[in-house]
Amino acid sequence: MSDNHLISTNPAKNYEEVGRVAVSTSKQIEAAVRAAREAQRTWGTLSVGERCTYFENFRSLIKNNFEELARLQTQEMGKPISGSRGECKGILHWLKWQIAHAPEFLAPRTLDTYEDRNVTLHFEPYGVAAVIAPWNYPTYQFVLNTAQILLGGNTVVLKPSEECPLTSQLLASLMHDASFPEGVFQCVYGDGAVGRTLLEQDINLVSFTGSSQTGKEVYKQAAKKFIPALLEMGGSSPGIVFEDANLEISCQSVYDQRFDNCGQVCCALKRLIVHESVHDEVVAKLKIIIESQVTGDPLDEKTTMGPLAAERQLKLLEEQVEDARERGATIITGGEGLSELSGAFYKPTLISNITSESRIVREEVFGPVLSVQKFSDEEQAISLANDTPYGLSAFIYTDDSERGSRVAARLQAGLININGCSFSSDRAPFGGYKESGIGRNDGEFGYYGVTQMKVIGKPKKWV
Ligand code: NAD
Repeated sequence: MSDNHLISTNPAKNYEEVGRVAVSTSKQIEAAVRAAREAQRTWGTLSVGERCTYFENFRSLIKNNFEELARLQTQEMGKPISGSRGECKGILHWLKWQIAHAPEFLAPRTLDTYEDRNVTLHFEPYGVAAVIAPWNYPTYQFVLNTAQILLGGNTVVLKPSEECPLTSQLLASLMHDASFPEGVFQCVYGDGAVGRTLLEQDINLVSFTGSSQTGKEVYKQAAKKFIPALLEMGGSSPGIVFEDANLEISCQSVYDQRFDNCGQVCCALKRLIVHESVHDEVVAKLKIIIESQVTGDPLDEKTTMGPLAAERQLKLLEEQVEDARERGATIITGGEGLSELSGAFYKPTLISNITSESRIVREEVFGPVLSVQKFSDEEQAISLANDTPYGLSAFIYTDDSERGSRVAARLQAGLININGCSFSSDRAPFGGYKESGIGRNDGEFGYYGVTQMKVIGKPKKWV
């Protein structure tokens, strides 16, 4: 931040400036919330189908600006261009599915019919929502965190992450061009202080996605106002490899689940727990896969891993790995930055001989580092997996279907992947147990956290 501007820097090009965005003042934030309140009166009366038409416009505009959006995102946060295009493609699909299904999910429904009366359920907006977003999937986080809230009849003031203000600004301009009525959707820019100011305003709902540490602060602010807070927070997800797993398939899946997006994924596999009889083989296979990656310029089509998103992320990761080293861990590969590349580059890293007290086990690791612990029986594997304040996702590798289901039932996580089978689905709710969050977004169930349910009993003869 400088001179009341957020400076967006390129983590792959020695942090050179990509552009800047003015930080919103308290007056502008207050005005945005006032305008959102005014706009909500009309927006809330539109049918869900009518609200969908604005999202159809927005979706067409994303399509028309696809390459610009993907490249900007890569410049701002270092995601390989193939990953950025994948994210933009994913959001086009996501919007199409939501537009097709929102009217059905939000339609009033009859709960019971009695001799003299009907009981119906209706979904109503809360009012004005404050949305606070992270940087790791800039396009996805922008759209996913606002669309369901808006389709539910609320209006939104979004504060995107200070790490990628230009991508957010471009998306906000596409929302504007999609002709959303004035005040229905607005963006304010800045760091945590701007987020705090936004939460002090006259709002009715908070949707926060980010670290568990910040999420707890946000929850306190929402509690003071006695308004609902939807919290999607961090993770330190375990992956258990049992002795009967197909190691070839499992190791490729473990790599993909840990190192995608340079390890900066909330629901990534962050702690590997391997049966002692296959530990050495798993470590050897992972080492080969990790060392075959091409780290470099994320705009180069051949690059499979770019830099971390920001210098502060690099520093934190270095501290976490240093702590493990000091506690006697073995660095199998990586364990240092890439000095020949200027920016937030870190070698993809595999570390074994970890103690449970190590920071890379206790804390969320948001970067290309995988730690490996050994277990000797199923009970111990489950206990190591659950020994974390987080509970977002978990991964199980085994050839025994009964064991797969038994272990899945005992893992404290909102999302479970068995043998590489993704939990992502159009309909699935997303969210975690314990300090990984409160509530669920996405899919069908995401609508029920962003609307109020009203039950009406009325005379049958009126129908
Ligand atoms: P962060 O907590 O540092 O920041 C998130 C957002 O909160 C940013 O916009 C930031 O400016 C804002 N903020 C900071 N302090 C605030 C305050 N006191 N009041 C209001 N707003 C405040 O997280 P990050 O580094 O941007 O993102 C990475 C984190 O997000 C990781 O922990 C990751 O696991 C998590 N994440 C979770 C999900 C999920 O769905 N569960 C998805 C993506 C990322």
